[in-house]
Amino acid sequence: MAAPKYIFVVGGVMSGIGKGVATSSIGLILKSKGFKVTTLKIDPYINVDAGTMNPTEHGEVFVLEDGYETDQDMGNYERFLNETLPSINYMTTGRVYQEIIRRERNLEYGGKNVEVVPHVPLEVIRRIKTAQEAAKADITLVEVGGTIGEYQSIIFLEAARMMKQEAPADVAVVMLSYVPIPNNIGEMKTKPTQYASRELNSAGLQADVILARAVVPIDAKRKEKIATFCNVRPERVISAPDVDSIYDVPLNYEKDGMGDIICDVLGLERRPTDLSQWTAFVEKSKNGNGEVHIAVVGKYFDTGDFVLADSYISVLESLKHAAYYSDKKLKISYLGAKNFENGTLALEELQKYNGILIPGGFGETGIEGKLKVIQYAREQKIPYFGLCYGMQLMVVESARNVAALVGANTTEINKDTPYPVIAVMESQKENVEKGNMGGTMRLGSYPCILKEGSVAATAYGKKEIIERHRHRYEVNPQYIPQVEATGLVFSGRSPDGVLMEIAELTKEQHPFFLGTQFHPEFLSRPLDPHPLFKAFIKAASEKEVEISG
Ligand code: GLN
Repeated sequence: MAAPKYIFVVGGVMSGIGKGVATSSIGLILKSKGFKVTTLKIDPYINVDAGTMNPTEHGEVFVLEDGYETDQDMGNYERFLNETLPSINYMTTGRVYQEIIRRERNLEYGGKNVEVVPHVPLEVIRRIKTAQEAAKADITLVEVGGTIGEYQSIIFLEAARMMKQEAPADVAVVMLSYVPIPNNIGEMKTKPTQYASRELNSAGLQADVILARAVVPIDAKRKEKIATFCNVRPERVISAPDVDSIYDVPLNYEKDGMGDIICDVLGLERRPTDLSQWTAFVEKSKNGNGEVHIAVVGKYFDTGDFVLADSYISVLESLKHAAYYSDKKLKISYLGAKNFENGTLALEELQKYNGILIPGGFGETGIEGKLKVIQYAREQKIPYFGLCYGMQLMVVESARNVAALVGANTTEINKDTPYPVIAVMESQKENVEKGNMGGTMRLGSYPCILKEGSVAATAYGKKEIIERHRHRYEVNPQYIPQVEATGLVFSGRSPDGVLMEIAELTKEQHPFFLGTQFHPEFLSRPLDPHPLFKAFIKAASEKEVEISG
């Protein structure tokens, strides 16, 4: 086998311009050329994993199959590449230091002074190479979070520099930059990109390819300028304009010959690119026959004056995949649960939507609002899909309003509730008591057995499934008979029968009223939408909406 190749994807000028999608797109193009590809994400935070970060600060927490809580970009990689990635493919500063300190305590450095340089970059390199070996990857992409020039990413650029020094022909650097068009000038300005490029040079690295993110495609004159001042060939300055859908990005890059350029930079033979399935998916996504309008009722939306859809990115993508599959255009509205508590939003407003989804969450903000929404969806027969917390609250709602267990609750909200229908798992009690909260939830993949003939079993078309989890609370086994007496069926259970993984109303009772203790959104892929999202969107498409708006 030829020497493994590495591509570092770094960001210039500012964050939030889509480095994750860029990395995923380059990965997809190379995979479609028949290379074995894997992708890693480096997050410069001290947090050991993303599980302790608030989604409004950092976006969604994406859970890997093995249970590691990671950055949402890992979700983009899995979706674009249609691969399942292991935890070695994600690292934070905290994770890297934790390992170094563990080894130091174990005398594994043989009495040496353990120093930031070289020991930190060496651990970073070890992790990158371990991921490459595990995936047997021809090409390994490494996305360095943050922006060039930030103090906290220097150590990771140092790892890239050391790898490049060791094998110059096997390491490439792609810089994603932003080219603004200030309103008062009306012209594209390349200076910030030039500064970013110099900053990269001062870390001992030179970009081989520059992706010029901008509102519009970059013109020949600007390409030339970036090429000259950033020391890159003009054909290796790739236009990356804003697009309607992230799924357009790989197709756009390929128009500029991205795949062959990377092959040239890394000394690989050029191969034909086969993006035919992807192209068919993108085309289908644009030709929807009518739309399906979904209300997502949650709490992690607000950041100052802005609305942040990133907190639920996998949910949004899963809804899109299923909508495209059903030949529908997805329209989505984010409704703050609190608005249903203080009367800012009337429940009747929900008639506007084809379906309602309540995603995962923690804590008490907006809970009573969510419970009202669930009750309304149940009584008015509006298709409802509850994910994790959204399923637990379904159980609370039925317990309160159908079984008349007044004050029923989850002990996450009220420890002294007379009817703890959702309670902390036995295995979690000690963690909660000791405040041992980081990385200790029920995390990652677990099997689940489906009840024959149920809505869930029909959707999946099989009896046993495996899904990813992230929760500390569960349906309290003591209350199963009372809850099932309300009509709610636990149609998915852990193989030992102890944990309730899916709750639903039968097809006869409701067009779609189903919740999962797990997070199906982590497994939906563009070319392979998730069965439950497909079933939800199908039911939603069949609902008449009173007002469209
Ligand atoms: N807060 C709930 C629990 O810990 C639900 C978690 C979630 O929705 N991811 O069980």
